[in-house]
Amino acid sequence: MTKVETLFSILDESAIVLRKELDITYLEALVETGDNVFEGTILQEGLRDSAIERLNREYGKFPDKQYKGEEIRKAFQLCLLKGMKEGVQANHEMTPDAVGLFCSYLFHKFFEGQNEISVLDPAVGTGNLLTAIFNNSPEGTNMSGYGVEVDDLLLRLAFVNANLQKHSIELFNQDALASLYIDPADAVVCDLPVGYYPNEIQANDYVLKAETGMSYAHHLFIEQSVKYTKEGGYLFFLIPNFLFESEQAPKLNTFLKEQCYIQGLLQLPVSMFKNEKNAKSIFVLQKKGTNAAAPKQVMLAELPKFSNVQAMEGMMAQIGQWFEENK
Ligand code: SAM
Repeated sequence: MTKVETLFSILDESAIVLRKELDITYLEALVETGDNVFEGTILQEGLRDSAIERLNREYGKFPDKQYKGEEIRKAFQLCLLKGMKEGVQANHEMTPDAVGLFCSYLFHKFFEGQNEISVLDPAVGTGNLLTAIFNNSPEGTNMSGYGVEVDDLLLRLAFVNANLQKHSIELFNQDALASLYIDPADAVVCDLPVGYYPNEIQANDYVLKAETGMSYAHHLFIEQSVKYTKEGGYLFFLIPNFLFESEQAPKLNTFLKEQCYIQGLLQLPVSMFKNEKNAKSIFVLQKKGTNAAAPKQVMLAELPKFSNVQAMEGMMAQIGQWFEENK
């Protein structure tokens, strides 16, 4: 078995035991077992002896310090995928592995040479995207982060995920569109929740609120993210492909032109998404500031299927070329 398979099997088997014993969902049990592994002890009370024995047998197989953050992320991700099959809303789905890895690649190209990077993910979900970015940082980079999430189960999953991967990420269980008690970060990464934002009073604080009716959460998230980014910092969003087609798009465009320099727009392969309407792009911005500048040319691309190695290599070469000419 590979390390990832071993880690998955320990987390999965122990979550199954706890799900049954505590009569909770698989994802809730994943939080419980993750806590146990992290704390090095069984924290739940009142378990039957047979369950304790089975848990201890699984935890005894844990390779302790001999695993990498990325191995835990992958194993945890497999458990999350399994648990999410029980049903989650499309908007709560975790960011797919391949997208997280590609975003990490882009992220670290933009931050080349910077060895202290703080990152905010205002819709952190399970932490899969944010921790992929941490794990794929060049050696010697000191990463710190903040994650905000309104759903408490997802936030608990992100907490366990970050702990097991030994990342220093502060997590906040709140509406990310309310005031955040954090300092502006060097970067924002966010797989934007798409749809209407139900809190019309809160939306009033935003330039990008709708003139009439409900505002788009994804527009407000962009505005909030810009606010909590340092001058000259970068923002990496996963946006719906229809972002610039809505009736509220002109206002968003004006806001972006005033506050940011658009760096890139990369369309992910449509085949990656169950429904073409949910297809997304990676949108990269730089917040204006003294050391910020518009690129000579915005990086625009339609990404090939990630499984097409040759086409992907060609794309990476083009992206490398873009960095040479523009950064
Ligand atoms: N990147 C995440 C991951 O890898 O698990 C997935 C992000 S998911 C596409 C969007 C997340 O935004 C969901 O977890 C959802 O609960 C969260 N969300 C939606 N509205 C929110 C709000 N107002 N404040 C904070 N989080 C919110």
